[in-house]
Amino acid sequence: MSQDAPTATRLKRVRIEPKRRTLTVVAIEALTPGMRRIRFQSPALQDFSSLSPDDHIKLFFTGADGATIMRDYTPRGFDNAAATLVIDFALHEAGPATAWAIAAKVGDTLEIGGPRGSTVVPDVFAWYLLIGDETALPAIARRVEELPPGTAVTTIVTVDSAKEIQSFKTTANWTAEWVLRDIAGQDDIANVRQAIGRLTPTTANGFVWIAGEAQFARSLRVCLIEEHGHPAIDMKAAGYWVRGAEGAHQPLD
Ligand SMILES: Cc1cc2nc3c(=O)[nH]c(=O)nc-3n(C[C@H](O)[C@H](O)[C@H](O)COP(=O)(O)OP(=O)(O)OC[C@H]3O[C@@H](n4cnc5c(N)ncnc54)[C@H](O)[C@@H]3O)c2cc1C
Repeated sequence: MSQDAPTATRLKRVRIEPKRRTLTVVAIEALTPGMRRIRFQSPALQDFSSLSPDDHIKLFFTGADGATIMRDYTPRGFDNAAATLVIDFALHEAGPATAWAIAAKVGDTLEIGGPRGSTVVPDVFAWYLLIGDETALPAIARRVEELPPGTAVTTIVTVDSAKEIQSFKTTANWTAEWVLRDIAGQDDIANVRQAIGRLTPTTANGFVWIAGEAQFARSLRVCLIEEHGHPAIDMKAAGYWVRGAEGAHQPLD
């Protein structure tokens, strides 16, 4: 972390014309015990666009009462030529999106919308620090994969156990710290604060990204700004879910 002045660079927000698409499940893989990867295909994906690793799409489900239920997910990967899209579902105990992912089988269909826009982080930063829980892993993985060769990037990700550790192909200079709840304990915020404290101090011009449960993301954002002097302008943080609330999304900047 650094006390130096923030970079003058600003994140660029890009709008994309929203579009609804109906996709068909073509493959399902247990990436880890707690992460289910579902690959979709549709001719409508030939013009799918996602400019930033932390873009999100809306998934539409129908509730028992017929009402439409929406949940946000990250386009983990897409291939316009093959007309495919990959979503990684972190499995937890409740919720229509998770229930759908657990029950999904090849041939099922799912309606999606978006992305409606992207926050593009320019490739000008000297280093990147990406912090999150399982729900943030798809975006973290994409960012690690998409960073320019040799870029210094550290990830701190909280997961249940060593069985949830993932590996990504990247040419970036990637350092991974996995905080395992079965060893470090269940307090994700305290565990990540400790992991941040173990980082070697760096030069200026870094970018920090945080996502996960809303209280986790909010506390760590404040910790980075107030205790480590990281400029808020070179940071993006979001609550990807809220404990006890359904389908909640809390951007924090
Ligand atoms: C921009 C964005 C991108 C996201 N990308 C992904 C992604 O790629 N993959 C992914 O798995 N998730 C992702 N999420 C998180 C996902 O949208 C939420 O976890 C969502 O609440 C899951 O919907 P559900 O229907 O399963 O549960 P809900 O009906 O929303 O919630 C039911 C209950 O489960 C709790 N809950 C929700 N999520 C979790 C969780 N992860 N662990 C424990 N309890 C939980 C809620 O607090 C609630 O009490 C993203 C969220 C945002 C905002």
